[in-house]
Amino acid sequence: MGLGILCFLAGGAFGAASAGVWLAAGAAQQVIVVLLAAIAVGAIGFLCYSRRAHRVQTRLQRIIERDRYTGFYNLTKFEQAGQALVETRSREETARMAVVVVRVTQPSILTATYGKEALITLFRRMGQRLVEAPWTVLAGTRTNAAGAVCLTHPLEEAALREMLSRLLGENEYLQVGHMRVRVTLEAGVCYLGATAMRVETALNNAGLAAQGAQPLRFFNSALQRETLLMSRMESLQQAALDRREFHIWYQPKYDLVTRRCVGAEALVRWESAELGFLPPGRFIHLFERNGFISQLDFYNLRHVMEFQRDCREKGLPVLPISVNQSRFHMKEKGYLARMRSLVDRFGTEGIELELTETAFGFESEALQRHSLEVVNALHAMGFAIDMDDFGSGYSDLSLLNQLPLDVMKIDRSLLLASESSQRMRTVLGRMVELGHALGMRVICEGIETEEQEALLRAVGCEYGQGFLYGQPMQRADFEAFLRAHA
Ligand code: C2E
Ligand code: MG
Ligand code: MG
Repeated sequence: MGLGILCFLAGGAFGAASAGVWLAAGAAQQVIVVLLAAIAVGAIGFLCYSRRAHRVQTRLQRIIERDRYTGFYNLTKFEQAGQALVETRSREETARMAVVVVRVTQPSILTATYGKEALITLFRRMGQRLVEAPWTVLAGTRTNAAGAVCLTHPLEEAALREMLSRLLGENEYLQVGHMRVRVTLEAGVCYLGATAMRVETALNNAGLAAQGAQPLRFFNSALQRETLLMSRMESLQQAALDRREFHIWYQPKYDLVTRRCVGAEALVRWESAELGFLPPGRFIHLFERNGFISQLDFYNLRHVMEFQRDCREKGLPVLPISVNQSRFHMKEKGYLARMRSLVDRFGTEGIELELTETAFGFESEALQRHSLEVVNALHAMGFAIDMDDFGSGYSDLSLLNQLPLDVMKIDRSLLLASESSQRMRTVLGRMVELGHALGMRVICEGIETEEQEALLRAVGCEYGQGFLYGQPMQRADFEAFLRAHA
């Protein structure tokens, strides 16, 4: 650009100077020639300048509008172009147009194992398919967030479902070098509908529908209500903590032989002034996603530690109480320091920590190693460690070797399966044996009937928790229960 301007100015200056000299000589014709030459030099300079400016502008525009990895439209441009396009269509057509979001379910596993290039290859291919598909009008990608998007022609749901299923099927495998890698995709769809929803909103909704779609989900009013509730919960979470709306309930654990209470599990509930009573299944996942679980678990643990201190002061029996710890903490900075500060203040007597086995299914080896270190540090601080929901997931048995586990807590699903299958009963029995052989106490959760209790006793399981013995109860009720039963 600088060079172009320089040419233009130099041309002009040169023309003017020479004209002055020649004018004095009275050579009018020559002056005209020189002036014309000067104008020509200036024009060439300007042309150079504007072509370069155009190139720079095109490059800038590309950076602003395109996904830097795939070259397809990025989301901002997709939204703009999509909205402009929709506005040229009739109401009837718009109602049947949809925004589709396709994502990789666990992109970090794909990139950690095969590198970012694998993700880029996948989305280049996906973007290409979407651009070429006869049912799309516009496509874009967002490789960083592992997603591809498109706006469709007016289509019925059944037809769109079929085409998307085919697209997902075609992209199930990815060639990485010599390897054929399986990729799990999830897709969400949102129709613009009779209200002619904005493309930006439809994109958001389709993204929400894609979350855990397994593999394809259409945005609907139930999902919309759920989304609204999530955002309400998110906006209320901090105030709820400050107003002490989260309460710990206690569910007793029993010795299956003596039928005496031997401890309890602390389970959180949210009694919201705005939203009513909410069990943890409604909010724990959200708080794990937005990080609020960090504060909530700390608050809960502190509450239970205070409860144990009060029991000691009141002369009530201090039975071990287990507190759930989210897998979120395994990645969290400052978690161990916070736990240390609680331990310094309250000690660890009568406190166990429950961790689910999925807390260790991390995407990278480094992260897995780190989580093992965290658990070892917690154990060294004096906490007993319970492996919650054991047998519910992929049960990496090497964890039993690597973790300092004190309690094996068998998942309810295993108990239910054992009721109807002799083979599962054998598996359950061997699991109990394994736990004992490794020096752990073994407890089973979710016991509802005398038959289930008898089955567990028969395979050697010594402890149990479930509605047969007691529902989770509020603090005052649990104190009364302790007085009566312990
Ligand atoms: P969990 O740790 O596996 O807790 C056991 C769940 O089983 C509890 O559900 C309990 O009420 C339920 N349960 C107990 N006995 C029976 C029974 O006989 N039959 C059946 N069907 N269910 C029974 P709840 O209280 O809804 O908690 C659900 C999950 O929420 C917990 O599963 C735990 O993963 C999580 N959670 C609860 N409190 C906390 C917390 O303070 N922090 C974290 N991070 N997670 C929590
Ligand atoms: Mg638990
Ligand atoms: Mg459990």
